[in-house]
Amino acid sequence: MSGLNRASLATLSAHPYDVLVVGGGIYGAMAARESSLRGHRTALVERGDFGAGTSFNSLKIVHGGIRYVQHLDVMRLRASARERAFWRHVAPDLVQPLDFTVPLTGFGIKGPVAFAAAAALYTALSTGLRGPDFGGTGVISAAAAQRHLGGFAPKGLTGGGVWRDGQIQDTGRLQIAVLSAAARTGTDIANHMAVDGFVHRRGRIEGAAVTDRITGESGEISARVVLSCTGEAAGSLASPVLTSDARARFPAFARALNIVVRRQIGNRALGIVGCEGSDAVIDRGGRMYFLTPWAGLTVIGTHEAPLPGPDIDPDTAVADFLDILNRACPDLALTMQDVLHVYDGMIPADVDDDRNHAVRRRTAGTLLDHASDGAAGLVSVIGVKYTTARSIAARAMDTAERHLGGDVSARVRRRSLTEKLPQVASALVDPDDCAALAARMEYAMRQEMAMTLEDAVMRRMPLVETGALLGPDGPARCERLKKIARTLGLPGDSFMS
Ligand SMILES: Cc1cc2nc3c(=O)[nH]c(=O)nc-3n(C[C@H](O)[C@H](O)[C@H](O)COP(=O)(O)OP(=O)(O)OC[C@H]3O[C@@H](n4cnc5c(N)ncnc54)[C@H](O)[C@@H]3O)c2cc1C
Repeated sequence: MSGLNRASLATLSAHPYDVLVVGGGIYGAMAARESSLRGHRTALVERGDFGAGTSFNSLKIVHGGIRYVQHLDVMRLRASARERAFWRHVAPDLVQPLDFTVPLTGFGIKGPVAFAAAAALYTALSTGLRGPDFGGTGVISAAAAQRHLGGFAPKGLTGGGVWRDGQIQDTGRLQIAVLSAAARTGTDIANHMAVDGFVHRRGRIEGAAVTDRITGESGEISARVVLSCTGEAAGSLASPVLTSDARARFPAFARALNIVVRRQIGNRALGIVGCEGSDAVIDRGGRMYFLTPWAGLTVIGTHEAPLPGPDIDPDTAVADFLDILNRACPDLALTMQDVLHVYDGMIPADVDDDRNHAVRRRTAGTLLDHASDGAAGLVSVIGVKYTTARSIAARAMDTAERHLGGDVSARVRRRSLTEKLPQVASALVDPDDCAALAARMEYAMRQEMAMTLEDAVMRRMPLVETGALLGPDGPARCERLKKIARTLGLPGDSFMS
């Protein structure tokens, strides 16, 4: 079982670390796991709660890379297939196989023959990497596709493309499991501990200045290498210590959204094709959106939107998304009232302001060793996929080894790919059972580092994302949670007002 104890500022500043990881999203958690597996003395600090940036907001799909056939990107395809098998192997309860069906239309590039060729290529290229649970990529007949897609089938259906990917059952649980693995191998961890800036002396980074947002104390953490896994904040955090031309190497960001709706679509994920253009080498005539069954509900994603600005109203993004979905698939007939939760995160992307703010997501992550930017010992990691967090974290640690002077054995590399994550306690709880809620909240405080009511309710129990606090029962359930939090001394009531 997990057992995360928050490291105090006194502990973190008492002695130098080999590696300080900044950011407690999936990339930071994986980097800390990798670093401590390699035997380095490691600390991880997160300015808010674990995963509360982008990681908690993912569509929960562990992609095996079938999409990279379109882009003819063999390296990424193989890495994705391997990492999907990794997640399934190390966290079999939390990452389960999910079958996908996408509609095929006509007999050209969007039809069955083209998909069958892509499937055969995928199967050949991922041989030996897929693991036991992820076969079955291929084509089904139009009649079978119609049965899978039901009212979501487009006109002119000539078949269906099918494959199997992984689905994360609970992103909050998986985040805690990875952090628990890092803690088990010795990482000191603290959330609500913000890095204010890096300690920069004689062209080297020697640690970070931090503020403990729970106690209000400030201090310094010393480290030989700092890995900044801070997502969209990475550029602004590093800028003060970098030469000016280095700043341009950080990617721009856009928003990405998924919505949770109260619809039942059976037990397969279904693809529907939107109306805009695609950035793939083989243009499938529009972006693909996925309806994924989850917790008796449906999560739909992913919609990209530019960041809010003078002529961009953030509140229109969800309405735009519903409009795209309803135009692509009138049977959905979604309204704002159907939306139980919006997952809202940031992705590396380029936005073309001349083309109606069109968003083009980056397909590759960014790994920057700042040794040549006047800040030796600082490495920035900006990922584009949850799926590949482990492999990018391992590459970031390979870069860090150059500064640490370490040597990584084949045994350690094997452990990184195969060592199972610790089991974590179930997050499922009846929102009307006061005793069970109190017990779960206390566990989240004592064992999972929930420091505020928001930490507990948003990311240690699936209460907000499943819409359990909405509707006629919502107000009473919120009051119950606030009362329990007050009794336990857990701050942050205002999040529910
Ligand atoms: C809507 C959406 C759907 C997606 N769906 C999928 C999917 O289905 N499959 C998939 O593989 N990928 C998916 N992705 C991509 C994936 O979620 C991201 O690539 C991944 O979560 C990025 O993780 P991260 O750790 O780099 O960033 P984050 O999770 O944002 O973590 C960065 C952390 O750094 C912390 N931080 C920032 N500044 C500081 C500071 N000064 N001090 C301390 N901490 C700091 C932040 O608080 C944050 O918690 C999706 C993304 C979005 C937005």
